[in-house]
Amino acid sequence: MTHIFHHTLNDGHAIPPIGFGTFPLKGEEGRDAVHAALGNGYRLLDSATNYENEGIVGRALRDFLAESGVPRDEVTVQSKLAGRHHDYESALAAGYESVTRLGLDQLDVLMIHWPNPITNKYREAWRALVELQKRGLVRSIGVSNFTAEHLANIIEDSGVTPAINQIELHPYAARDEMRAEHTRLGIVTQAWSPLGKRNHPFAEAPVADAAAAHGVTPAQVVLRWHLQLGSLPLPKASTPSRQVENLDVMGFELTDAQMSGISSLSTPDGARSDRDPNEHEEM
Ligand code: NDP
Repeated sequence: MTHIFHHTLNDGHAIPPIGFGTFPLKGEEGRDAVHAALGNGYRLLDSATNYENEGIVGRALRDFLAESGVPRDEVTVQSKLAGRHHDYESALAAGYESVTRLGLDQLDVLMIHWPNPITNKYREAWRALVELQKRGLVRSIGVSNFTAEHLANIIEDSGVTPAINQIELHPYAARDEMRAEHTRLGIVTQAWSPLGKRNHPFAEAPVADAAAAHGVTPAQVVLRWHLQLGSLPLPKASTPSRQVENLDVMGFELTDAQMSGISSLSTPDGARSDRDPNEHEEM
């Protein structure tokens, strides 16, 4: 087990520093991959209604807990509210549906998946998540793909600051300004596509050189870079050996020069241009 520390959220709950990304794992193969990830030591699962896999994530978790004797409260399960459910009543019902599909009594983290600012109902959706937390259906509440402006709007509207904002973050998009805003507000940064997914930075000199210097893989360097930045990565790997590799990043430390070398790969247009939160509408 390599989880040597947890991050405490602004609501007092703690989550592991590395999570398992579950998109696009589905069906029997998906269940097996999530089950393998739990067996390989992951204690945070990141799902979403729109991944259409809450059922198999919950199934893999229940099977794993029954076989291993690991207590339920040692695993953090996250899901995300879809854009078509931003109306207040619809969001409340969708929260119950997610928890039911996952087969849980309580969901650990529920997030708004995208702000969908053109639809412009994310404040309503956030008020529903606040209510679901009050009711005890979800333990912690957060958002995903929110800009500083979206964050300010929901905080002003509800008086409640999200515990987490899950954003695209990797060496080509280090998101300095968003991370600084999260720090100022007391919000934990989670990283989606932490390895860059479509465009891995593994062959870039700062990554490859650090990997050679520490005797680790480029993916391990990138994940370690996240942790030292204070970003909690959610790598997805269907390959079990990669699942193990991606958790095994506590045994070395990047130097300041290695950290800044990797961060220097970041450019203003390094994030996916088709996923601008001010324009992307995902229902
Ligand atoms: P990742 O950066 O995690 O990349 C995943 C890809 O990298 C897969 O093809 C995987 O291969 C490969 N990979 C994993 N580990 C290694 C390794 N050690 N060496 C080489 N290749 C490796 O990107 P994702 O886009 O999948 O993001 C991760 C998670 O973030 C998603 O699963 C989801 O939970 C979340 N997400 C959230 C979004 C949001 O809007 N909130 C948007 C997008 C993602 P293989 O699987 O074949 O082993």
